[in-house]
Amino acid sequence: MSWDTTEKRIKCPCGKGEIVQVNKDNDWGQYIEGTPVIECPECAKKYKLVSKTHSSYKPGHGSWTNYYLVPKGLKPDKKYKNSFEYVNEYELAKKDFAEYLIVDYPKSVLEEAYAELLNATSVSALRSAARRIAKDKKRYTGFCKIKELTPLVKKAIDGFDFYNGNWQQRDDEEQENIKAEEEYLAKVRKEGILLDL
Ligand SMILES: [Zn+2]
Repeated sequence: MSWDTTEKRIKCPCGKGEIVQVNKDNDWGQYIEGTPVIECPECAKKYKLVSKTHSSYKPGHGSWTNYYLVPKGLKPDKKYKNSFEYVNEYELAKKDFAEYLIVDYPKSVLEEAYAELLNATSVSALRSAARRIAKDKKRYTGFCKIKELTPLVKKAIDGFDFYNGNWQQRDDEEQENIKAEEEYLAKVRKEGILLDL
């Protein structure tokens, strides 16, 4: 299998040099898009490259990347936060299922599930929130009994607000990061130069 390379060149903003992108493709229809390189000392000093990948709304129609040259001083207004440790769900659920529930579920869903569990007679009769949690219990720990699950959900509800890194805190941070990224991209679009590659 061999790769063909194609080179795209466009003029840089100052006009004295070029921006180059090397792309590869092969007989199997695979395509690798290269990262553009600023081949102009002046523009390389002034600009940095910011890329934004978009996915097609239609499934299977792939994605495309827009590249922008933005002034080097342009930075996000807010810092991206990453306050909470990454959690391996499987390991956490095995170690402490109540803790897993705190990290993976909103408190309102746990409360809903708890109310359901209090009136439930069998796992197979569970619906909605409690059903999802029971499925998790079985998948991660190998078994699930109402008598055992109910106090675990109660324990998760009671501990939720005191737990650093609960679902709510993680979700709040994620929403903030998404917002910060959107704001930064709006600035990139406004002040940057979209490369016509
Ligand atoms: Zn230039």
